[in-house]
Amino acid sequence: MRDPVYLDYNASAPLKPEARDAAISAMDLHGNPSSVHGAGRKVRRVIETARGALAARLGAAPEAVVFTSGATEANNLVLRGFTEEGEACRVLVNATEHDSVLDARADIEIIPVRPDGVIDIPRLQRMLADRDWRPTLISVMAVNNETGVINPVAEVAELAHASGAKLHVDAVQGVGLAETDIDVTRVGIDFLTVSGHKLGALRGVGAVLLGRGLHLHALNRGGGQEKGMRSGTENVAGIASFGAVMAALPDYAERYAALGGWRDKVCEALCARHPEVIVAGADAPRAPHVVTLILPGVPSETQVMALDLDGIAVSAGAACSSGKVRASHVLSAMGYDAAHAGSGVRVSFGWNSCEADADRFIAAYDRMASRLKARAGSTAA
Ligand code: PMP
Repeated sequence: MRDPVYLDYNASAPLKPEARDAAISAMDLHGNPSSVHGAGRKVRRVIETARGALAARLGAAPEAVVFTSGATEANNLVLRGFTEEGEACRVLVNATEHDSVLDARADIEIIPVRPDGVIDIPRLQRMLADRDWRPTLISVMAVNNETGVINPVAEVAELAHASGAKLHVDAVQGVGLAETDIDVTRVGIDFLTVSGHKLGALRGVGAVLLGRGLHLHALNRGGGQEKGMRSGTENVAGIASFGAVMAALPDYAERYAALGGWRDKVCEALCARHPEVIVAGADAPRAPHVVTLILPGVPSETQVMALDLDGIAVSAGAACSSGKVRASHVLSAMGYDAAHAGSGVRVSFGWNSCEADADRFIAAYDRMASRLKARAGSTAA
């Protein structure tokens, strides 16, 4: 049997060789990075080198980087640490954010998206026009993890700052793409979230980058690591792997043009053979590495399992930790009804994908859709 095709990079990418090498070297070091002796200082240097790599790639100062256990923690730290616990604030959140943003606090106000999945700017303007004395945070993702839809982050930054609000950008799916400008200083992003394993580093490492002079109230308190914003001994191997990936990232950026070509090939081939297939957010600017295909009325779970049996690993975009599939809140926010929002399959490419992966996906999806239609036809007859 042939090796399975992995098309679920947006859930987690395979480890890159440079990340593996950096992690193994870091694991061979002992000592606590907060210790003052030589062993501790050696480990500390690994962390600071990685911090420098993230900062350089994302247009921030090294002091602006706070390492966390991943993007989920980073998002929670921003949304919940924006003000002191109990202090009044207003948090406006784009409707298609990851659950780690949407669920971080109970008092968020949702900014709707347009039917193509892009944040509704006039609506945001109206929400901001409602002047408020409370400190305000706006949270909008750079690239949606299910549809690849790109949000106009620079425009939102201008609106945010004109009204005295701060901007948080979850850039987990936007780093390393030519189309999305992730430069904290140039764009004026106040808080940026990134995740290591989506880019080929180890799982369990992420970071928040903060704009100049900004601070977050810690959720984890204790030893005061990460400038008091995230106590706990750092995940040195994970951080080293993240730094190695970020240092090499420009070499990979070019590849995304190829990924876009394969994504288009997938969409064109399957929409031609199965005209009922819908490409979510097709009219919006989209990142090249991910697409959600909707096969109306066929539960995502059925599709994911059928494709898995045929050697293709994709996801339903909205799988939670139990592996259960729910209707996608992203598709629902775009106005799709339950029969559509529960029928999407997310295909995501990454650093180690090749055109043959796209071709095998096309063939497998075609077999699946044809079989399901034949079955539906025979039931109707
Ligand atoms: N934000 C986005 C946009 C994501 O795609 C993900 C991962 N699915 C996360 C946050 C959470 O990342 P992590 O796995 O690092 O907690």
